[in-house]
Amino acid sequence: MNLLFSSIKGRLLALFLSAFFVVLTGLGFFLYNKLEGIVIGSIDNHLHSEVQLIAGLLETEEEGPELELSEAAIGDYATPLSGHYYQVVLPDGRVLARSPSLSIPGKRLPHVRGILLEPVYTTATGPRGEPLRLLAQSFRLPDGEVVTIEAAESLEEAYELLRLFRNTLLVVFPAVFIISGLGVLFIIVWSLRPLERFSKKIGTITERNLNERIEETRGSELSSLAKSFNTMLSRLEESFERQKRFFTDASHELRTPTAVIKSVCDVTLSRKRTAEEYEEALEKIKQATERLSGLIGRLLEVSRLEGKLSSLKLEEVDLKDLTEDVVRLLDPAAASSNIAIGLKGDGVKVHGDRERLTEAIKNIVDNAIKYNRPGGRVDIELEKKDGWAMIILRDTGMGIPQDKLCRIFERFYRVEESRKIGGTGLGLSIAKSIIDAHRGRIEVESEPGVGTTFRVVLPKR
Ligand code: ADP
Repeated sequence: MNLLFSSIKGRLLALFLSAFFVVLTGLGFFLYNKLEGIVIGSIDNHLHSEVQLIAGLLETEEEGPELELSEAAIGDYATPLSGHYYQVVLPDGRVLARSPSLSIPGKRLPHVRGILLEPVYTTATGPRGEPLRLLAQSFRLPDGEVVTIEAAESLEEAYELLRLFRNTLLVVFPAVFIISGLGVLFIIVWSLRPLERFSKKIGTITERNLNERIEETRGSELSSLAKSFNTMLSRLEESFERQKRFFTDASHELRTPTAVIKSVCDVTLSRKRTAEEYEEALEKIKQATERLSGLIGRLLEVSRLEGKLSSLKLEEVDLKDLTEDVVRLLDPAAASSNIAIGLKGDGVKVHGDRERLTEAIKNIVDNAIKYNRPGGRVDIELEKKDGWAMIILRDTGMGIPQDKLCRIFERFYRVEESRKIGGTGLGLSIAKSIIDAHRGRIEVESEPGVGTTFRVVLPKR
């Protein structure tokens, strides 16, 4: 039972059946009462005209009301115990006249006492024990005497009609209920079939077939769900592909220094060497190890970042202080390449992770020094505009060809011309991830042989 109600189908069906049950029961009661009203109403109308007719006859009866109102005593009134009766009663209870249908000793209509100026309708038991509808009304005769005219009609036929109607309802309504329930169940199952297909399809999707998509049936309520799901699949596929590419590229990058170490060891150990030769070999191994450790450090940083804003330690950071720290850190490297670094602009405060932002700016300034010409310049400028803080970094370096500009933020991407200069191809992708996580952006412009300008834009709040 619980299982039935926990499914959408079960709940929809239960909802429909209970609503339909209430509607059908209400409709049944309404129709029955309406029919009962119509039937009793028509009997009452008939009785009313009968009473009026008898009253009219009494007023014109010349030989006195004791006679059996010969003009009224016809038809059903003439047949004994036919279910159609009338009687004229005096206030003391004496019967003045009655229909021949009552002319059996001991049989009479129940007497409604009192003087009844308005017609009084009641339901009573007749001489045969049958249910009767009875109308009583008092009239004053021309001789001043007050009489009460009672006319009655058996309710047996009306009750039989109502019973038949009730029985029909009791057969028809449950049948309608069951047929509609089955119909609705069919519609629900049929309507939810795409959802089942949908969930089956989702169940078959693994990392191996992330390129598959769910059919987006137009016009169906499920189409927006399928669309969102397909968008999610595309994003998953993209991220999965990125991860795969990252893994391959990382392995490839790690292999180069490892291969250098191995080959230096193999060559050096192939025979006895002099102390100088061992020293030279160790120096090469040291360089390769430094490259390896630098690469591993960057890889760790990349995997830690992944654009997660939640992992940032947010605080108020003055970009002027931060840039000064970066310049101080990289000053020895700049000095060794004879590159001057200039910094201008006022302090701009942003809400960010000081350590990460320092890392991002350091990577960009590091590149500006690394890919510069001896005696070149790096100019850093701080600006604020509307709700944004900007760090503009201009260098006088080798520049980046236009067609490569869009790729420099990709992991492991390195411009061909700059490959002879040491690097991992990860610095800018790390910087971009950090700035993205701060809901900022990095823009770049470059002219080969003239220099490159990076613009880091961060929201002030
Ligand atoms: P790398 O560790 O190789 O510097 P990055 O991700 O920091 O890796 O940069 C990617 C590539 O973009 C670099 O290899 C270089 O070719 C190019 N690049 C980045 N900054 C500059 C710059 N200021 N001037 C010229 N080329 C640059």
